[in-house]
Amino acid sequence: MAKQLTPGLHIVATPIGNLEDLSPRAAETLSNADAILVEDTRVTAKLLAHIGARVPMVRYDDHSSEADRDRIVARLGDEAIALVSDAGTPLISDPGYKLVRAARAAGHEVHTVPGPCAAVAALTLAALPTDRFLFLGFLPAKAKARADAVAEVSQVRATLVLYESGQRLGDTLLALLTGLGPRDAAVAREITKLHEECVTGSLRELAARYADDIPKGEIVIVVGPPLEAETVSDDVLDAMLDQAMRRLSPSRAAAEVAEQLNIPRKRAYARALERAK
Ligand code: SAM
Repeated sequence: MAKQLTPGLHIVATPIGNLEDLSPRAAETLSNADAILVEDTRVTAKLLAHIGARVPMVRYDDHSSEADRDRIVARLGDEAIALVSDAGTPLISDPGYKLVRAARAAGHEVHTVPGPCAAVAALTLAALPTDRFLFLGFLPAKAKARADAVAEVSQVRATLVLYESGQRLGDTLLALLTGLGPRDAAVAREITKLHEECVTGSLRELAARYADDIPKGEIVIVVGPPLEAETVSDDVLDAMLDQAMRRLSPSRAAAEVAEQLNIPRKRAYARALERAK
C-alpha cells in the first residue's frame, strides 16, 4: 500500500546525471505525492518512468504568477505536493524559494529530501579548501557586470563555486583571473555522467586551456581562496606587476597588485621599483 505523506511541500533533490543517485526516500516521496511541481514535464517524466511512478505534474518556476502560487499554496493543507527541478537540488540556482516562503507564511509544513547538488559535488572533486565556500551561481553574461561581480568577491577569504556553460567558460575564467589574481582552481564537468572529469590547475593555466576550447556538457568552476602572502612567489608578483605597470605608475601598480594578491603593499612597491629600473 502506498505510504501516506504528510500534507505540505516536499522539496526533493534529483540526480544531476546518474539516475541511480535518486535516493530511496526521494523515489518514495515522488511516488506518493499528490502532485509534483516541475520545471519541465518532459525531463521529470523520464525520472518518473525510471521509478515507475504515475503522478500528475504541474509546471512551476519563480516566474509563475502570484495567482499560480496561491493556488498551489491553497492545496498544501490537504495534499502532499513535491517540488523538483530538472536536476539536482531545487532552489539552488533553480526555482522554489518564493514558494517555500509562501508555504511557510501560510503555516504549511515544508520538508526536504536532500540529495545531489552540482556545487557540492564539484567541491568534493576540486581538492580545494572546503571549510569556507561561497556559492555564486551563474555570473552575469555581460562583461562589465561580470567583472563587477568578480571584483565584489575578490577579498573574500573562501573558496568560490560558480555554475557556467561551456560556451562562456573561457571568458569567465579570464574574468576570474583578471579580477582575483593567481589562485588554484578546478573545472568539474559532467559530474556523475559518462564523461565526468575534473581538471585542476592555476586559474592562469585553466584560462589558457579553455581560451579556445569550448567543452561540452555541464560545468562547475571552483576557485580556491586568495593565496597566503608567503605563498605568493616573486615570479607571480613580478608577472602581475609587469602587466599592471603597462597601465600604471610603479606605486599605483604596487597598490593594485598588493590588493589583488593580498600581500603587504611595501613588498609589492619594493619589487615594482626594482622592475621599473
Ligand atoms: N539545482 C542544481 C543543483 O543542485 O546542482 C543546479 C541547477 S543550475 C540551473 C544548472 C547548472 O548546474 C549547470 O549549468 C551546471 O553549471 C551545473 N550542473 C548541473 N549538473 C551538473 C553536472 N552533472 N556536472 C557539472 N555541472 C552540473
